[in-house]
Amino acid sequence: MERILGPQLGAFVHALHTQHGVVFHLEDKATAITGTTVELGTGKSLAADLVVAGVGVRPRIAIAEKAGLALDRGVLVDAYLETSTPGIFAAGDIARWPDPHSGANIRVEHWVVAERHGQTAALNMLGHHVKFTAAPYFWSQHYDVPINYVGHAESWDDLEIDGDVEARDCLVRYKQGGHLRAVASINRDVASLQAELTLERQSI
Ligand SMILES: Cc1cc2nc3c(=O)[nH]c(=O)nc-3n(C[C@H](O)[C@H](O)[C@H](O)COP(=O)(O)OP(=O)(O)OC[C@H]3O[C@@H](n4cnc5c(N)ncnc54)[C@H](O)[C@@H]3O)c2cc1C
Repeated sequence: MERILGPQLGAFVHALHTQHGVVFHLEDKATAITGTTVELGTGKSLAADLVVAGVGVRPRIAIAEKAGLALDRGVLVDAYLETSTPGIFAAGDIARWPDPHSGANIRVEHWVVAERHGQTAALNMLGHHVKFTAAPYFWSQHYDVPINYVGHAESWDDLEIDGDVEARDCLVRYKQGGHLRAVASINRDVASLQAELTLERQSI
């Protein structure tokens, strides 16, 4: 999770799982699954009753492609979640929309975003003409530790930590060019909601 959350939270999550008995093979790759083992690139062999492969997802865009909708690693939509074909809307994991907070066209795979997209797309199908302006949000639960993340920061030039990551009481701010792009928090729900408001008010 270091790529998304930064080195401090990444190391924290790593340590938390290790304390619960998880063994990481971070510099290694699975090269084969034999039925009772997983073979690794470095030659190690892991006994396995069950293999869960978390290898990412790809949007299924064949129908959108056949329909002639504009695509960009997903279905492109405007601020109203309308595709390049008037009257056709896209929402959730498949939609790449102009995020007013980062100024970029983004596609995210978060439950709450899909839910809020659905609400906005439905209103627009009914002719309300409302822009999607919510800041993306996701949670990630690790044992008894909840991590909440608001915003969208694929990179940052400044990372500030309030509180204490180890003590499971912190708010991490990811900034780019002096602007807040995202916050991650553990057990700081009020501060996380306040940051969500800040992000939503500083639309580009
Ligand atoms: C393992 C896993 C863990 C996750 N954990 C979290 C988490 O902790 N927090 C979080 O915020 N998000 C999490 N997510 C992401 C979250 O589940 C998704 O962002 C959300 O479900 C997206 O909703 P959606 O409606 O856009 O897409 P989906 O839920 O994928 O729904 C799309 C539906 O369209 C159907 N479909 C596809 N093609 C066709 C077709 N041609 N015709 C008809 N139907 C079709 C599919 O069968 C599917 O039912 C997780 C996802 C996974 C896979």
